[in-house]
Amino acid sequence: MAQDIWLKQAKRVPSPNYNERPDQVLDLLVIHNISLPPKQFGSPYVEQFFTNCLDHDLHPFFDEIRGVEVSAHLFIRRDGEVIQFVPLNKRAWHAGKSSFQGRENCNDFSIGIEMEGYDDCPYTSEQYARLAEISAEIISYYPSILPEHIVGHSDIAPGRKTDPGPAFDWSVYQALLQASLQT
Ligand SMILES: [Zn+2]
Repeated sequence: MAQDIWLKQAKRVPSPNYNERPDQVLDLLVIHNISLPPKQFGSPYVEQFFTNCLDHDLHPFFDEIRGVEVSAHLFIRRDGEVIQFVPLNKRAWHAGKSSFQGRENCNDFSIGIEMEGYDDCPYTSEQYARLAEISAEIISYYPSILPEHIVGHSDIAPGRKTDPGPAFDWSVYQALLQASLQT
């Protein structure tokens, strides 16, 4: 059985929301955003949500997401802190109904990274720096993730999802990623 892959620089917060991947090439990286409550940063609620420990009575929005069991592999806070919920080799539950180049169910063959934020709020330079670093590390494990296989959630679930939103600067990210890949 393959060894679980946890990134060394990430804080580990294991989530029960994952399962085994089907036997296919892992070649997609999906960028998301999340903040709980929406547009509020720095709370413990995303970690609690992804580990099914959130008190859904605390906020009206939390009531709307009661019973929802989701996860992402990684979460990057505004200050650049990286938290990992699911080993890279396991199937996290971040994409939902989705398709990439005609292949359905992107969770089967992708890694999901959540940026703490919301669609029209600029991400921090610390977040871009850490995102580029960990993307390069992920690509070192999964070289089938080509540059054109790094997408937003909105790209694989158009009409249903809008994240990471217009505030996400793909050119900044791609430039930092290229630099990280060359070191
Ligand atoms: Zn998303």
